[in-house]
Amino acid sequence: MAKHHQKLEPSLPADAGFSTRAIRSGTHRSDYGEHSEALFLTSSFVFEDAQQAADRFQNKEPGVVYSRFTNPSVQMFEERLACLEGAEDCVATASGMSAILAVCLGLLKSGDQIVTSGSLFGATIQLFDNFMQKFGVGVRYVSLTDPAAWQAAITPQTKLFYLETPSNPLTELADLQAIGQIARQAGVITVVDNCFLTPALQQPLAFPIDLVLHSATKYIDGQGRVLGGAVAGPRSLVDQVRQVVRTCGPSMSPFNAWVLHKSLETLSVRMRAHNANAQALAEWLQAHPAVARVHYPGLASHPQHALAQRQQCGGGAVVAFELKGSDSVELTKKAFALFDRVQLFSRTGNLGDTRSIITHPASTTHGRISEEARARAGIGAGLVRLAVGLEDLVDLQKDLEQGLR
Ligand SMILES: *Cc1c(COP(=O)(O)O)cnc(C)c1O
Repeated sequence: MAKHHQKLEPSLPADAGFSTRAIRSGTHRSDYGEHSEALFLTSSFVFEDAQQAADRFQNKEPGVVYSRFTNPSVQMFEERLACLEGAEDCVATASGMSAILAVCLGLLKSGDQIVTSGSLFGATIQLFDNFMQKFGVGVRYVSLTDPAAWQAAITPQTKLFYLETPSNPLTELADLQAIGQIARQAGVITVVDNCFLTPALQQPLAFPIDLVLHSATKYIDGQGRVLGGAVAGPRSLVDQVRQVVRTCGPSMSPFNAWVLHKSLETLSVRMRAHNANAQALAEWLQAHPAVARVHYPGLASHPQHALAQRQQCGGGAVVAFELKGSDSVELTKKAFALFDRVQLFSRTGNLGDTRSIITHPASTTHGRISEEARARAGIGAGLVRLAVGLEDLVDLQKDLEQGLR
C-alpha cells in the first residue's frame, strides 16, 4: 500500500486503520452540515458565470459539470474506495462489466493482446471472446496458478494481464507477487478483479499490480440491492479509463453511489463475518461423510493455503465442495437433491449477499460448455458452490445437514 499516495480527509490521521477510513474518508458536506452524506440526485450543475463554465469544462477549475462524469455522490464513493484500496485515484462505473469494458477501451487498441486465465467470470470471457476479439484484440488463456505460463505467454503485442483471484468456483489463487513482477519486467499492465475478497480481505495494489477492478454489485453492496463497478489505481491509468466513462457513458448513478458509499462503512465487519461463517462451514463440510472434497483457501488442505496466508486475510465467503458418488449420473442426482432440499439457502446464481446462496455450476453457470471442457476446468457434476452469507452458522449447518442426508 505504501507505493500509492493515499487521499485522506484532512481530519483523518495518515495512519488511520481500515475501518476508520471506511467510515470517515470521502465525506464532503454541503452548507447544511448534514452528518450522513447527502444524495445528489441531479443530472447537471449550474455555473456562476461564463468564465466559470468555461474553466470547469476545460478542467481548469475543480468542480462538477454533468453527472455522466462528475457527481458529488459518485465522487465520494470513488474517493472512499480509493482510500480503502490504497489507490491514488478511482473511477466508478454502472456495473462490474462496464468497469472491465472501460479498462479494455481505455488501455487497449487493435493488435494488442490480453493474457488471462480460463477460470474467469463467464461474462468477462464473453466480453473478451465475442467483443474484444471482434475489434482486433487477441486473448490468450493460461493457467491461473502457474506464473511461468504467464511469462511464457508474453509477446511484443501483450499489453494486459487480467487476473481474478480467488477464482470462481474452485477458489484457485493467482500469485500476485510473482505474476505482478513478471508483468512489471515486461512493461505489461496488470488488472486484478478483486470482487471476491474486497479490500477488506485483499489489497492487490500492495503487490506489483497496477489496477484493481470491482463489481461493487457483490460484496461492496453486500445486500443484493444495486449494480455498480469501479477501477482504482494510479491517476495516469485511471484517467484513461475515466475518459471512456466520460465519453461513452457507462457511468454510475448517483443513487447507486450513495448506497455503495454507505455500504463501505460496514464492509470490514461484514467481510469478517462472511469469512468466519465460511471458514467454519468449510471445516464442517470437510468432516462430513457425504463430502469428498472441499475447495476453500482458508483450509490447510487447499493446495495454495500458504499463498492464501501471504496475500489475503482469510479465505473469503465462497466455498465449493464435491459430493461423493461413482459417476456423473449419480453425482448430478445427488447435487440436484441437495439443491432442491435446502430451505434456507437461496437457489440463485448470484453471490455477495447477506443471504447464503447455493449454486450447481455444472448445470447452470458452466452448463453451456461441453462435459470434457467442464472436466478440464474441474467443474464436475457433483460440485456445489456456496456463497456463505451472514445467517447464524448453526442454521446453515442444519439446512445443509438435512439436505445431505
Ligand atoms: C459479478 C461479477 C462481475 C460482473 O459484475 P456486474 O456488476 O454483474 O456487471 C465481474 N467479475 C466477477 C468476479 C463477478 O463475480
